[in-house]
Amino acid sequence: MELRNVRIVTPEQVIENGSLSIASGRIVAIRETTGVPSGLTVLPGFIDLHIHGGGGADTMDATPEALATICRTHAAHGTTRLLATTITQSDAAITAALANVARHMGSPSIGGGGGLLGGIHLEGPYISPGKPGAQPKEFVRRYDEAEFSGWLEAAQGTMRQITLASEQPGGEALIAACNAAGVVISLGHTDATADQTKAAIALGARQATHLFNAMNGTHHRNPGPIPVFMTDLRVRVEVIADGHHVAPEVIAMTYAAAGAKRFIAITDAMAGAGNGDGLYKLGGHDVTVANGRATLADGTLAGSVLTMDQAARNLRAWCGLGWQEIAQVTATNAADQQGWLDTGRLEVGKLADLVIVDEDLNVQATYVAGECIYSTA
Ligand SMILES: [Zn+2]
Repeated sequence: MELRNVRIVTPEQVIENGSLSIASGRIVAIRETTGVPSGLTVLPGFIDLHIHGGGGADTMDATPEALATICRTHAAHGTTRLLATTITQSDAAITAALANVARHMGSPSIGGGGGLLGGIHLEGPYISPGKPGAQPKEFVRRYDEAEFSGWLEAAQGTMRQITLASEQPGGEALIAACNAAGVVISLGHTDATADQTKAAIALGARQATHLFNAMNGTHHRNPGPIPVFMTDLRVRVEVIADGHHVAPEVIAMTYAAAGAKRFIAITDAMAGAGNGDGLYKLGGHDVTVANGRATLADGTLAGSVLTMDQAARNLRAWCGLGWQEIAQVTATNAADQQGWLDTGRLEVGKLADLVIVDEDLNVQATYVAGECIYSTA
């Protein structure tokens, strides 16, 4: 198969009028071409490391149908790989969600070509009771070795990322267990100081979960974790790019500080994403979605209804990103962070995980491993 007369965004260059050939699920040729450009652009498919739900479904539903709905909903917005994200809950509820993902990883009925469902992001429950955000506070707890090894077993190697609060009791042991299991450690829902954050990074933490949200803020004489995350070159930062969780000006500041290679756009999407206003559940709590904001009864933000195409549009507007920077923050950095060497960039030999957009970043088609899983045509 060949995509012709498209703009192609590669790590090295932007080909204004090119063709991209796909065979056996992989990109086999990228070249310049002649003829009238279509006005369409091919980007690496978006990769979302933090996504609870979409299309009315939630990872915690723990059913194959829920995973299929989440994947289908976000594929329509250009996502080609995602981490199904759990929430702070009972042992039984988390175990069921993990086992469900493990059982259906690679299933063609869930992610076209089998690659859309990339694994699990375990968000909580080993977080700070002082920074729950919308995580149900009644289930926040300290690290329990037996419980966590049960989850690693239930996940069967599919647990790719954890959000934890390193300063809580057992934090060091938890970091060691994650390092041993190859789980990317993202610090979040945390009360950590700057020094505690540096200590966690020294032990192997490599990411910040939704930077700014559910962590101590910054005062110029009491920095908290944020300046550490922004400036430590070993760390990448997740940012919810919806404009509700972090103001556009602060997103621009973060991009300027962290740079194109350490900024990871995420949605933190909940069930309402792709589904419109209404009443939903998150972690067992009622969430109201109205005017693009998802909130608990007390007004706490409860995930987003963001999709990655809108995140890309927002970041282009707020940070002045060009095509290559868009690819970097919506795909390449997440792939690099996860060690997914076969996706996240348009290069010969990589999986044909790609999204075709118009000039306004409206998704026209989404391909996972060369298979078209969404198209407006
Ligand atoms: Zn969170």
